[in-house]
Amino acid sequence: MAQETVEHDGTEKREREAAARVARRDAAVRGAVAGGLLGPDAPLVALLDVAGIRESAAALRAAFDAVVAPGTPVLHAFAVKAAPLVPVLSLLHAAGLGAEAASPGELALVRAAGVPASRTVLDSPAKTPGELREALALGVAVNADNPQELARIDALVAAGATGSPLGIRVNPQVGGGTIGATSTATPTSKFGVALLDEGAREWVVRAYLDRPWLTRLHAHTGSQGIPLPLMARGVAEAYALAEEVNGRAGRRQIDTLDIGGGLPVDFTAEATAPTYAEYARLLAAEVPGLFDGRYGLVTEFGRSLLAKHGTVLARVEYAKSAGGRRIAVTHAGVQVATRTVYAPAQWPLRVAAYDAGGKPKSGPEVVQDVAGPACFSGDLLAEGRALPALEQGDLAAVLDTGAYYFAHHYSYNSLARPGVYGFVPDGAGGVEFAVVREPQTVAQIVAESGGAHADALTTLDAPGSR
Ligand SMILES: *Cc1c(COP(=O)(O)O)cnc(C)c1O
Repeated sequence: MAQETVEHDGTEKREREAAARVARRDAAVRGAVAGGLLGPDAPLVALLDVAGIRESAAALRAAFDAVVAPGTPVLHAFAVKAAPLVPVLSLLHAAGLGAEAASPGELALVRAAGVPASRTVLDSPAKTPGELREALALGVAVNADNPQELARIDALVAAGATGSPLGIRVNPQVGGGTIGATSTATPTSKFGVALLDEGAREWVVRAYLDRPWLTRLHAHTGSQGIPLPLMARGVAEAYALAEEVNGRAGRRQIDTLDIGGGLPVDFTAEATAPTYAEYARLLAAEVPGLFDGRYGLVTEFGRSLLAKHGTVLARVEYAKSAGGRRIAVTHAGVQVATRTVYAPAQWPLRVAAYDAGGKPKSGPEVVQDVAGPACFSGDLLAEGRALPALEQGDLAAVLDTGAYYFAHHYSYNSLARPGVYGFVPDGAGGVEFAVVREPQTVAQIVAESGGAHADALTTLDAPGSR
């Protein structure tokens, strides 16, 4: 009975938060039109709901605070790849989160955002010697992906002191989810030491016993498409391995477990499901020792922190029909929703219709395609979708695009990166905006496309080739 009450309250809270999110989004769409962020000459913008992002960060922290022993160090390192935007990293840092970087560029963004090294984790799969040297000099935590990388770290550790917490990433090989490209614990996944391969587990244990400075263990079982029980199994495998290492070492050598990210996002509905609280409770039930205070924790959530808080807003340039199908030709396509366009079955997105003034459209739904601006026929955000009829000048809002969408521009057809604007309610029914990323200009596109080297090829004549 008590359990039912909790579930019921959880659902109500979710619905309430979802309704508040819709209200903030509607106000932001109106404000973007009224304020001229969007118009005939700026047909595409991206919006970030700052209050929503803060809410998700707080929910993540509260979920783990509720299950860990008091005093347990917990670092929630936001997976930068989900939203590689400096102001977003600063916002999350201010909300008590750290950062997980996976490339030199991401590490530079983290540093530009002012996230201290002590709250940063580096997990790049293909770290160069220079990248490792920089990370160890900064004191950033590093998880070695494989034996060759560990050998490089050995040399750096031998050459001088580093304050970096160091660990090994393992692949628990517990299996994949519904999306192959985001499953990282299949038998042949490219990340970490494959734990079930012959001799691998013993190699990992020996690696720790031979290196008293290895104090962390890392596993990330996958992203979107991994069911919660499978995520929990991946964590349980990492925990069991840490217990084995510490048992054989006769001390608590591994003092921190990095359990990765991967909480899936429901792209078919407004409400958040599953929640961080559900995942934390599942872990507490399945891997009780994890939270008893013997291990510090690192998490690396990305998509679940940002997805619901981003919206792409695109003007409908033309409304037409072909073969009896209505088609809204918009400015949002493959350049801002690459995964959805190339793999629509795995990455569906919701689309909401607004009129030219930014008011939600109602009225009878008609089946239509929502097309992007790129020159290939598959550039569709939604195919055969039932929506209020989108007319010329209306707005198509592409929802749940805060992670792995507009921040991951794909420059097909030299389409410009849209401006990104954060918003908060202004207390009077409207919103206030801040620039997160300037829109890319056509002049910048030329410059980034070799504009300064226009004659480079016509004048490239090797002496013997004339
Ligand atoms: C991508 C990735 C994450 C984040 O995954 P989400 O699904 O966005 O939460 C965390 N850790 C590692 C190592 C990753 O590669």
